[in-house]
This record gives sequence, structure tokens and C-alpha cells, in this order.
Amino acid sequence: MSSSHLFQNRVAVLATMHHKEVAIAPVLEPELGLKIHVPKNFNTDQFGTFTREITRSGDQLEAARRKALSALEQTGMDLAIASEGSFAPYPALPMLPCNREVIVLIDQLNGLEVIGEAISTETNFNHRSISSFEEAYEFAMKAGFPDHKLVVMVRKDSIDRADIVKSIAEFDQLREAVSIALARSQTGSIHIETDMRAMHNPTRMKAIGQATRDLVEKLKQCCPNCSTPGFTASTVKRGLPCDWCGSPTDLVLAKTYQCQKCGFEQDKLYPDEKRTAEPMYCSYCNP
Ligand SMILES: [Zn+2]
Ligand SMILES: [Zn+2]
Repeated sequence: MSSSHLFQNRVAVLATMHHKEVAIAPVLEPELGLKIHVPKNFNTDQFGTFTREITRSGDQLEAARRKALSALEQTGMDLAIASEGSFAPYPALPMLPCNREVIVLIDQLNGLEVIGEAISTETNFNHRSISSFEEAYEFAMKAGFPDHKLVVMVRKDSIDRADIVKSIAEFDQLREAVSIALARSQTGSIHIETDMRAMHNPTRMKAIGQATRDLVEKLKQCCPNCSTPGFTASTVKRGLPCDWCGSPTDLVLAKTYQCQKCGFEQDKLYPDEKRTAEPMYCSYCNP
């Protein structure tokens, strides 16, 4: 059994209304031999959107999982794919926005759930308050407009649909949206942000493609005991020994891989390809 046999000639429902098949199908279809099906009228906005009319609930993986399960329920199929993105400051460099994409494959026929992931600092994710078209224009230029679309809102917490214009893709449209929002604003300033929905954001679409390739890599890792695909690391063991004194440090010593099907476990030592830790990580040598 291999990943290509498990999925060959099956149809996978992709839970999206934002054309994510553009990034996902060209990777998954040839690699797994399956066919992607995008249901008509599938409304993923019930799970929360980037433009915040609906507050996103649960964490990112949970949101992707719920979309996939809902697509299975709506279509009666047994194989589903869904993805979910988030945008947050990069942990090491808080000034730098970072895009994390997760993609989940749920196979009810074989009792499998496999997750792909991509973390990229290549994103145009941005927002600011503006009070003129000139400021909007300046923001747009930095955001890669018009290939990347924009959202203009009267206030950054606007919820009234009349106060929000999404999918702005042309300069005339931007000028009009800014002037209408300014006329509705009580303060003289309005809010502009990048439209992060996949079909309006080619940079994000690229990150979804990366996460999909990671999913394929994970599916190619098969259990040494039963050959089920998706043999991936589930936990890490810390304690990589210090290079000077041999005491355990907080660095990763091993990753434990586990099979979802048969429960087989295997430790892979030195996942970062280092057998010892620099003394700077040791609490004895570098207190
Ligand atoms: Zn197994
Ligand atoms: Zn030491």
C-alpha cells in the first residue's frame, strides 16, 4: 500500500469558495491520482472570514477540520480537503508579518487525517488608517495592487455591509470606495486593508501551494509496520546533550513518529542533524 494506491481514481471534495483549487489541484491530482471536486454553493464564510463580519472561532487547524467535515457531510463523499490561513507577526521578528497555511486531508474510508503546513514571511498582509485617496494609493502600491485586491472600510471594526467594500481591483474602484467611505466617516479617517481571500491574493495562493506540497511529502512517508501513508512526527523529545559537558539541553533530541492506523511508534534521533548542542544552550556551561 502506498499513498498513490490509496487515493488513485478517487474524488476528493475541496471545501472552498475562494478558488483554492487553483493552487491545490495541480499539486494533488498528479501526485495522488485523485480528482478534486469543488462543490457548488459551499459556503465557507460560516467558518469565519478575514474581513471579520464573522468572528473566527477555534484554532486554525480546527477551522480547517470543520470545513472538511462539513463538506463530507454535505456531499456524502469520503475524502475531503480543506485549508485555513492565518496572519500574525513572525515570532522572531515581530515587525514582520507572517502567513501560516494549514491544509488537512481527511480520508474516512481509511481512517486517516494528514496535515500539511507552510509558514512564509512573503505576504502583503497589511492595514492602516487613511484620510485621502493619496494615502490609499500609497498603501495600494506597497500591497501589490491591483494583482492583490484591497478592502476599504469606514472603521476597522465596521460590520455594516454598506460600510465595507471588498475585492477592490481597479484604481477607479479604489477612488470611489475611498470617497464614499470618507463621506460616511464621522472622524475624517477610514480603514484600508489587504484582501487576504485566496482568489484575491496571488502571494497567499502561492503559500497554499507550498502547504499542499508539504501535505504530499507527509503522505509519502509510510508506516514501516503497515505501510499506511502519513507517518509523521507527533511529539518531540528534548535533551540534546551539551557539546562540552554532556548535560541534556532544551534542544530537540528526537522526534517520535506515530502511525494513525496501527499505532506503531518510532523515534528519529537528531532531527536537526546535530548530535550535540552548542554550550550556549547548556544551563551548566552558560548559566
Ligand atoms: Zn502502521
Ligand atoms: Zn554543558
